[in-house]
Amino acid sequence: MRVSFSSLETYKNCPLKYKYQEIDKIKTPKSKEAVFGTILHSTLKFIHTPGILSPTQEQAMEFFSNTWNPSVFDSPEEERAAFVQGVKIIQDYYQRNNPADYNIVSLESRFQIEIGTPDNRHIVSGIIDRIDRTRDGFEIIDYKTTKKMPTQESVETSAQLTVYLQAFLSFYPEEKNNLDKLRVSLYYLKHDFKLSAQRTAEQLKENENAFLEIIKLIEEKKFEPNISPLCDWCGYQNICPMWKHKFKETRKIDSAEINSMIDEYIDLKSAISLTKTRLAKIQTEIEQYMEQENVRRVFGENGIIAQSLRVTYKYDEEKVQAILSPLEKWQAVLKLDKTALKNMLDSLPAKTRKEIESAKIIDKESKSLIVKKK
Ligand code: SF4
Repeated sequence: MRVSFSSLETYKNCPLKYKYQEIDKIKTPKSKEAVFGTILHSTLKFIHTPGILSPTQEQAMEFFSNTWNPSVFDSPEEERAAFVQGVKIIQDYYQRNNPADYNIVSLESRFQIEIGTPDNRHIVSGIIDRIDRTRDGFEIIDYKTTKKMPTQESVETSAQLTVYLQAFLSFYPEEKNNLDKLRVSLYYLKHDFKLSAQRTAEQLKENENAFLEIIKLIEEKKFEPNISPLCDWCGYQNICPMWKHKFKETRKIDSAEINSMIDEYIDLKSAISLTKTRLAKIQTEIEQYMEQENVRRVFGENGIIAQSLRVTYKYDEEKVQAILSPLEKWQAVLKLDKTALKNMLDSLPAKTRKEIESAKIIDKESKSLIVKKK
């Protein structure tokens, strides 16, 4: 199978989105964030393209202005704010970096790497924004235009940087023994901040295995939707079963009856929850009253409330085992304690955790309705 790294990321975030994008090939307009990111990436490529003289800040600004695409923004105000932000990013970039100081090896280089075993071979492709020669090795840099800056820990484990390093090693196999001299970095342009890390041979292997697991799920055609904050940027909301009902066009064709039932269901669920809270409060008060008055039954206009003692028992495991083992019946009553297993998972080595994860099978499936109140 041939997959791009970005499509594997898409699958990780939402398998259904992967299906819409890569299998059904449903096109969506590029988001303004994506267009903004592409323009800045091109500007940085312009800034660092090796030449006799590196472009000045003014030349970089001119390039940025000429590449600017105002049509994707919803209003002139929004467009102006984005343009100003782009200008500030370039100014900040020049403040911190002198393009002439870098020894650029490649810009926006495409790669294809093979992963897996001969009978389970796959190709992962992608584009590395920039590779620099450093004093004692190399640095692989990816530019980010996201608002949120991640923690150092997420850079240490970023699958993107790991696969980029793997791709780099396919260009420069002799560097495999110099992993400690190879840096992988994410440059957060909006924050003008670069986070860097290194990788070990084990991390490279683990990353490859993680990709193989995703590819396996794709081949098994597992395409469940995954609701997350990323849905806000997903161009498939209007066809996705988790969102499409929200769109007015769809709702209009529904009967008025189902629409009123949806609202009634939400109201009833909320009334049940209020009632449960109130019931628990009243129960505590009545129990306290009964204890104080030393009575076991109380009388109201509408009925009687009686207190009953409910006792639950558990078995002394050792004794039961001693009784059942000689009869060879002990194994038959043993059951895996899922809660204990879940609590123990974190303390197990990654390999064992994965083995346990892959031993998971669906016990039963049921549908339920979950209400999220506006
Ligand atoms: S809207 Fe959300 S759940 Fe639906 S396909 Fe897009 S990312 Fe997945």
